[in-house]
Amino acid sequence: MDLCSLRDLRGQPTAVNLFRQALEQGRLAHAYLLVGPEGTGKATAVRALTAELFCESRKACAQCRACGKLLRGTHPDFLVLSREGERISLARVREAERFLRYPPLEAPAKIVLVQEAERLTPEAANALLKSLEEPPAYAHFFLTAVSTERLLPTIVSRTQVVRFRALSPEVLEGLLMERFNLSPEEAQVLALLAEGSLGRALRFSRAGLLEDLHRLAAAARSEDPGLQLKAVEALGARKDRLPDLLYLLELWLWHSFLADRGLRPYPPGLPEPAPAKDIFSLAEEVERVREGLESYANPELSLIYLLFRLSEAWSGGLSDENTLLQHKAGT
Ligand SMILES: [Zn+2]
Repeated sequence: MDLCSLRDLRGQPTAVNLFRQALEQGRLAHAYLLVGPEGTGKATAVRALTAELFCESRKACAQCRACGKLLRGTHPDFLVLSREGERISLARVREAERFLRYPPLEAPAKIVLVQEAERLTPEAANALLKSLEEPPAYAHFFLTAVSTERLLPTIVSRTQVVRFRALSPEVLEGLLMERFNLSPEEAQVLALLAEGSLGRALRFSRAGLLEDLHRLAAAARSEDPGLQLKAVEALGARKDRLPDLLYLLELWLWHSFLADRGLRPYPPGLPEPAPAKDIFSLAEEVERVREGLESYANPELSLIYLLFRLSEAWSGGLSDENTLLQHKAGT
Protein backbone atom coordinates (compact mmCIF):
# COMPACT_ATOMS: atom_id res chain seq x y z
CA MET A 1 0.00 0.00 0.00
CA ASP A 2 1.08 3.49 -0.81
CA LEU A 3 0.83 6.09 1.93
CA CYS A 4 -0.33 9.48 0.74
CA SER A 5 -1.59 12.55 2.55
CA LEU A 6 -4.77 14.48 1.83
CA ARG A 7 -2.58 17.00 0.02
CA ASP A 8 -1.75 14.36 -2.59
CA LEU A 9 -5.34 13.49 -3.34
CA ARG A 10 -6.22 14.78 -6.81
CA GLY A 11 -9.46 16.05 -8.23
CA GLN A 12 -11.51 16.01 -4.99
CA PRO A 13 -11.14 19.51 -3.51
CA THR A 14 -14.51 19.46 -1.68
CA ALA A 15 -13.79 16.22 0.18
CA VAL A 16 -10.19 17.21 0.91
CA ASN A 17 -11.20 20.60 2.36
CA LEU A 18 -13.90 19.06 4.48
CA PHE A 19 -11.58 16.44 5.98
CA ARG A 20 -8.73 18.90 6.36
CA GLN A 21 -10.90 21.30 8.36
CA ALA A 22 -12.32 18.51 10.51
CA LEU A 23 -8.77 17.36 11.34
CA GLU A 24 -7.48 20.85 12.05
CA GLN A 25 -10.40 21.70 14.30
CA GLY A 26 -10.38 18.31 15.98
CA ARG A 27 -14.01 17.84 14.99
CA LEU A 28 -14.03 14.64 13.00
CA ALA A 29 -17.60 13.26 12.78
CA HIS A 30 -18.33 9.76 14.01
CA ALA A 31 -19.54 8.50 10.67
CA TYR A 32 -18.91 9.56 7.10
CA LEU A 33 -20.27 8.06 3.92
CA LEU A 34 -17.99 8.65 0.93
CA VAL A 35 -20.08 8.37 -2.22
CA GLY A 36 -18.83 8.42 -5.80
CA PRO A 37 -17.80 6.36 -8.82
CA GLU A 38 -15.43 3.42 -8.49
CA GLY A 39 -11.75 4.36 -8.47
CA THR A 40 -12.07 8.03 -7.55
CA GLY A 41 -9.99 7.90 -4.37
CA LYS A 42 -12.56 7.25 -1.64
CA ALA A 43 -10.61 4.61 0.28
CA THR A 44 -7.37 6.43 -0.50
CA ALA A 45 -8.80 9.55 1.15
CA VAL A 46 -9.66 7.58 4.30
CA ARG A 47 -6.17 6.10 4.44
CA ALA A 48 -4.65 9.54 3.92
CA LEU A 49 -6.76 11.07 6.66
CA THR A 50 -5.94 8.20 9.02
CA ALA A 51 -2.24 8.60 8.28
CA GLU A 52 -2.37 12.33 9.05
CA LEU A 53 -4.24 11.70 12.27
CA PHE A 54 -2.06 8.80 13.45
CA CYS A 55 1.35 10.05 12.24
CA GLU A 56 3.74 11.17 14.98
CA SER A 57 4.38 14.42 13.11
CA ARG A 58 0.75 14.66 11.92
CA LYS A 59 1.64 14.78 8.24
CA ALA A 60 1.62 11.20 6.95
CA CYS A 61 5.43 11.24 6.91
CA ALA A 62 5.70 7.54 5.93
CA GLN A 63 8.76 7.36 8.22
CA CYS A 64 7.52 7.16 11.82
CA ARG A 65 6.35 4.04 13.66
CA ALA A 66 2.66 4.82 13.20
CA CYS A 67 3.05 5.42 9.46
CA GLY A 68 5.12 2.25 9.20
CA LYS A 69 2.33 0.20 10.79
CA LEU A 70 -0.28 1.76 8.52
CA LEU A 71 1.87 0.97 5.52
CA ARG A 72 2.24 -2.65 6.58
CA GLY A 73 -1.45 -2.93 7.46
CA THR A 74 -0.66 -3.78 11.09
CA HIS A 75 -1.80 -0.68 12.96
CA PRO A 76 -3.94 -1.83 15.94
CA ASP A 77 -6.29 1.17 15.74
CA PHE A 78 -7.23 0.97 12.06
CA LEU A 79 -9.60 -1.70 10.80
CA VAL A 80 -10.75 -2.29 7.22
CA LEU A 81 -13.92 -4.23 6.45
CA SER A 82 -14.01 -5.32 2.84
CA ARG A 83 -15.85 -7.99 0.99
CA GLU A 84 -14.96 -11.65 0.99
CA GLY A 85 -16.39 -13.01 -2.22
CA GLU A 86 -19.38 -10.85 -3.04
CA ARG A 87 -20.47 -9.79 0.43
CA ILE A 88 -19.39 -8.29 3.73
CA SER A 89 -20.63 -10.73 6.36
CA LEU A 90 -22.08 -10.26 9.82
CA ALA A 91 -18.93 -11.88 11.24
CA ARG A 92 -16.87 -8.95 9.91
CA VAL A 93 -19.15 -6.40 11.56
CA ARG A 94 -18.91 -8.35 14.83
CA GLU A 95 -15.16 -8.10 14.49
CA ALA A 96 -15.52 -4.31 14.23
CA GLU A 97 -17.65 -4.35 17.40
CA ARG A 98 -14.90 -6.17 19.28
CA PHE A 99 -12.31 -3.80 17.80
CA LEU A 100 -14.24 -0.81 19.15
CA ARG A 101 -14.85 -2.23 22.62
CA TYR A 102 -11.60 -0.77 24.04
CA PRO A 103 -10.02 2.66 23.55
CA PRO A 104 -7.22 3.11 21.03
CA LEU A 105 -3.88 1.53 21.89
CA GLU A 106 -1.51 3.89 20.10
CA ALA A 107 -3.40 6.47 18.07
CA PRO A 108 -5.66 9.35 19.14
CA ALA A 109 -8.71 7.54 17.71
CA LYS A 110 -9.95 4.25 16.28
CA ILE A 111 -10.95 4.20 12.64
CA VAL A 112 -13.09 1.66 10.82
CA LEU A 113 -13.16 1.76 7.02
CA VAL A 114 -16.09 -0.14 5.47
CA GLN A 115 -15.27 -0.51 1.80
CA GLU A 116 -18.16 -0.94 -0.67
CA ALA A 117 -20.83 -0.67 2.03
CA GLU A 118 -23.50 -1.74 -0.45
CA ARG A 119 -22.06 -5.23 -0.12
CA LEU A 120 -23.03 -5.62 3.54
CA THR A 121 -25.50 -8.47 4.00
CA PRO A 122 -28.83 -7.31 5.53
CA GLU A 123 -27.80 -8.78 8.91
CA ALA A 124 -24.40 -7.11 8.71
CA ALA A 125 -25.98 -3.77 7.77
CA ASN A 126 -28.35 -3.95 10.73
CA ALA A 127 -25.54 -4.78 13.12
CA LEU A 128 -23.47 -1.91 11.73
CA LEU A 129 -26.40 0.43 12.20
CA LYS A 130 -26.37 -0.37 15.94
CA SER A 131 -22.67 0.53 16.12
CA LEU A 132 -23.35 3.77 14.26
CA GLU A 133 -26.12 4.70 16.66
CA GLU A 134 -23.98 4.74 19.78
CA PRO A 135 -20.32 4.91 18.88
CA PRO A 136 -17.74 5.33 21.65
CA ALA A 137 -16.20 8.82 21.69
CA TYR A 138 -12.94 7.58 20.12
CA ALA A 139 -14.59 5.75 17.18
CA HIS A 140 -14.87 7.04 13.61
CA PHE A 141 -16.55 5.16 10.78
CA PHE A 142 -15.88 5.75 7.09
CA LEU A 143 -18.15 3.94 4.66
CA THR A 144 -17.57 4.02 0.91
CA ALA A 145 -20.22 3.36 -1.74
CA VAL A 146 -20.90 4.09 -5.40
CA SER A 147 -24.32 5.52 -4.55
CA THR A 148 -26.61 5.81 -1.53
CA GLU A 149 -29.41 3.92 -3.26
CA ARG A 150 -28.52 0.42 -2.22
CA LEU A 151 -27.83 1.30 1.41
CA LEU A 152 -30.25 1.22 4.33
CA PRO A 153 -31.71 4.74 4.55
CA THR A 154 -31.17 4.54 8.31
CA ILE A 155 -27.44 4.03 7.70
CA VAL A 156 -27.29 6.96 5.29
CA SER A 157 -29.08 9.23 7.74
CA ARG A 158 -26.57 8.37 10.48
CA THR A 159 -23.63 9.49 8.38
CA GLN A 160 -22.31 12.69 6.92
CA VAL A 161 -22.32 12.20 3.15
CA VAL A 162 -19.19 13.30 1.25
CA ARG A 163 -19.39 13.30 -2.55
CA PHE A 164 -16.53 12.17 -4.76
CA ARG A 165 -16.54 13.18 -8.42
CA ALA A 166 -15.39 11.32 -11.49
CA LEU A 167 -11.82 12.43 -12.22
CA SER A 168 -11.23 14.54 -15.32
CA PRO A 169 -9.11 12.96 -18.08
CA GLU A 170 -6.38 15.56 -17.36
CA VAL A 171 -6.18 14.62 -13.66
CA LEU A 172 -6.20 10.90 -14.50
CA GLU A 173 -3.51 11.32 -17.14
CA GLY A 174 -1.26 13.14 -14.67
CA LEU A 175 -1.79 10.51 -11.98
CA LEU A 176 -1.08 7.63 -14.34
CA MET A 177 2.20 9.16 -15.47
CA GLU A 178 3.46 10.53 -12.16
CA ARG A 179 2.34 7.93 -9.69
CA PHE A 180 2.17 4.82 -11.81
CA ASN A 181 4.93 5.53 -14.33
CA LEU A 182 2.85 4.94 -17.43
CA SER A 183 4.16 6.30 -20.72
CA PRO A 184 2.48 9.55 -21.89
CA GLU A 185 0.81 7.70 -24.81
CA GLU A 186 -0.68 4.99 -22.64
CA ALA A 187 -1.66 7.46 -19.91
CA GLN A 188 -3.47 9.66 -22.40
CA VAL A 189 -5.58 6.95 -23.97
CA LEU A 190 -6.35 5.15 -20.69
CA ALA A 191 -7.36 8.45 -19.08
CA LEU A 192 -9.89 8.93 -21.86
CA LEU A 193 -11.18 5.38 -21.72
CA ALA A 194 -11.46 5.01 -17.96
CA GLU A 195 -14.34 7.50 -17.67
CA GLY A 196 -13.16 9.22 -14.53
CA SER A 197 -12.01 6.15 -12.62
CA LEU A 198 -8.36 5.66 -11.70
CA GLY A 199 -9.20 2.12 -10.59
CA ARG A 200 -10.52 1.24 -14.03
CA ALA A 201 -7.54 2.84 -15.80
CA LEU A 202 -5.15 0.76 -13.72
CA ARG A 203 -7.13 -2.41 -14.29
CA PHE A 204 -7.01 -1.84 -18.06
CA SER A 205 -3.31 -1.15 -17.89
CA ARG A 206 -2.35 -4.13 -15.71
CA ALA A 207 -4.41 -6.57 -17.72
CA GLY A 208 -2.87 -5.38 -21.00
CA LEU A 209 -6.35 -4.72 -22.37
CA LEU A 210 -5.26 -1.99 -24.73
CA GLU A 211 -2.87 -4.46 -26.37
CA ASP A 212 -5.76 -6.93 -26.62
CA LEU A 213 -7.89 -4.34 -28.36
CA HIS A 214 -5.08 -3.63 -30.84
CA ARG A 215 -4.64 -7.34 -31.45
CA LEU A 216 -8.33 -7.83 -32.14
CA ALA A 217 -8.52 -4.85 -34.48
CA ALA A 218 -5.35 -5.88 -36.34
CA ALA A 219 -6.66 -9.42 -36.81
CA ALA A 220 -10.00 -8.15 -38.12
CA ARG A 221 -8.18 -5.85 -40.50
CA SER A 222 -5.81 -8.48 -41.85
CA GLU A 223 -8.30 -10.87 -43.49
CA ASP A 224 -5.77 -13.62 -42.85
CA PRO A 225 -7.69 -16.54 -41.29
CA GLY A 226 -4.54 -17.93 -39.64
CA LEU A 227 -3.82 -14.65 -37.89
CA GLN A 228 -7.45 -14.25 -36.90
CA LEU A 229 -7.58 -17.69 -35.36
CA LYS A 230 -4.38 -17.02 -33.42
CA ALA A 231 -5.79 -13.76 -32.06
CA VAL A 232 -9.00 -15.44 -30.96
CA GLU A 233 -7.08 -18.20 -29.23
CA ALA A 234 -4.90 -15.70 -27.39
CA LEU A 235 -7.85 -13.56 -26.32
CA GLY A 236 -10.14 -16.49 -25.53
CA ALA A 237 -7.55 -17.89 -23.14
CA ARG A 238 -8.14 -14.85 -20.93
CA LYS A 239 -11.82 -15.27 -20.30
CA ASP A 240 -11.89 -13.33 -17.05
CA ARG A 241 -10.88 -10.17 -18.92
CA LEU A 242 -13.53 -10.53 -21.59
CA PRO A 243 -16.09 -8.18 -19.96
CA ASP A 244 -13.47 -5.43 -19.74
CA LEU A 245 -12.33 -6.08 -23.29
CA LEU A 246 -15.90 -5.79 -24.58
CA TYR A 247 -16.29 -2.57 -22.63
CA LEU A 248 -13.13 -1.22 -24.29
CA LEU A 249 -14.43 -2.28 -27.70
CA GLU A 250 -17.54 -0.20 -27.09
CA LEU A 251 -15.48 2.80 -26.05
CA TRP A 252 -13.30 2.42 -29.13
CA LEU A 253 -16.45 2.43 -31.30
CA TRP A 254 -17.73 5.47 -29.41
CA HIS A 255 -14.50 7.40 -29.99
CA SER A 256 -14.54 6.34 -33.65
CA PHE A 257 -18.01 7.86 -33.90
CA LEU A 258 -17.06 11.10 -32.11
CA ALA A 259 -14.02 11.55 -34.34
CA ASP A 260 -15.99 10.75 -37.51
CA ARG A 261 -18.47 13.50 -36.65
CA GLY A 262 -15.65 15.90 -35.82
CA LEU A 263 -16.87 16.17 -32.23
CA ARG A 264 -13.60 15.17 -30.59
CA PRO A 265 -10.07 14.44 -31.76
CA TYR A 266 -9.35 10.74 -32.13
CA PRO A 267 -7.08 9.40 -29.32
CA PRO A 268 -3.78 8.38 -30.94
CA GLY A 269 -3.29 5.38 -28.66
CA LEU A 270 -6.35 3.56 -30.03
CA PRO A 271 -6.42 1.24 -33.05
CA GLU A 272 -7.45 2.80 -36.34
CA PRO A 273 -11.08 4.07 -36.13
CA ALA A 274 -13.86 1.59 -36.88
CA PRO A 275 -15.62 1.96 -40.26
CA ALA A 276 -17.98 4.90 -39.76
CA LYS A 277 -21.10 3.58 -41.41
CA ASP A 278 -21.27 0.40 -39.35
CA ILE A 279 -20.36 1.83 -35.94
CA PHE A 280 -23.86 1.61 -34.50
CA SER A 281 -24.54 -1.91 -35.70
CA LEU A 282 -21.20 -3.03 -34.35
CA ALA A 283 -21.84 -1.35 -30.99
CA GLU A 284 -25.19 -3.09 -30.76
CA GLU A 285 -23.57 -6.42 -31.45
CA VAL A 286 -20.88 -5.88 -28.84
CA GLU A 287 -23.57 -4.93 -26.35
CA ARG A 288 -25.53 -8.06 -27.16
CA VAL A 289 -22.46 -10.24 -26.71
CA ARG A 290 -21.78 -8.48 -23.41
CA GLU A 291 -25.27 -9.15 -22.16
CA GLY A 292 -25.14 -12.78 -23.22
CA LEU A 293 -21.67 -13.44 -21.88
CA GLU A 294 -22.91 -15.19 -18.75
CA SER A 295 -24.95 -17.68 -20.68
CA TYR A 296 -22.41 -18.61 -23.36
CA ALA A 297 -20.73 -21.89 -22.76
CA ASN A 298 -17.93 -20.82 -25.07
CA PRO A 299 -16.87 -17.16 -24.96
CA GLU A 300 -14.36 -17.81 -27.76
CA LEU A 301 -17.29 -18.24 -30.08
CA SER A 302 -18.54 -14.74 -29.30
CA LEU A 303 -15.07 -13.36 -30.01
CA ILE A 304 -14.87 -15.17 -33.34
CA TYR A 305 -18.25 -13.74 -34.15
CA LEU A 306 -17.26 -10.15 -33.30
CA LEU A 307 -14.01 -10.46 -35.17
CA PHE A 308 -15.84 -11.78 -38.20
CA ARG A 309 -18.35 -8.90 -38.11
CA LEU A 310 -15.62 -6.32 -37.69
CA SER A 311 -13.63 -7.80 -40.52
CA GLU A 312 -16.77 -7.72 -42.67
CA ALA A 313 -17.37 -4.06 -41.82
CA TRP A 314 -13.83 -3.19 -42.85
CA SER A 315 -13.93 -5.06 -46.10
CA GLY A 316 -16.96 -3.30 -47.50
CA GLY A 317 -19.82 -3.32 -45.01
CA LEU A 318 -21.88 -5.51 -42.72
CA SER A 319 -24.31 -7.97 -44.18
CA ASP A 320 -27.55 -8.40 -42.24
CA GLU A 321 -27.89 -12.03 -43.12
CA ASN A 322 -28.34 -14.78 -40.67
CA THR A 323 -25.77 -13.72 -38.15
CA LEU A 324 -24.34 -16.17 -35.73
CA LEU A 325 -26.22 -14.66 -32.81
CA GLN A 326 -29.57 -14.71 -34.56
CA HIS A 327 -28.78 -18.25 -35.49
CA LYS A 328 -28.00 -19.09 -31.88
CA ALA A 329 -31.09 -17.33 -30.61
CA GLY A 330 -33.27 -19.30 -32.97
CA THR A 331 -32.00 -22.68 -31.88
ZN1 LIG B 1 4.41 9.50 10.24
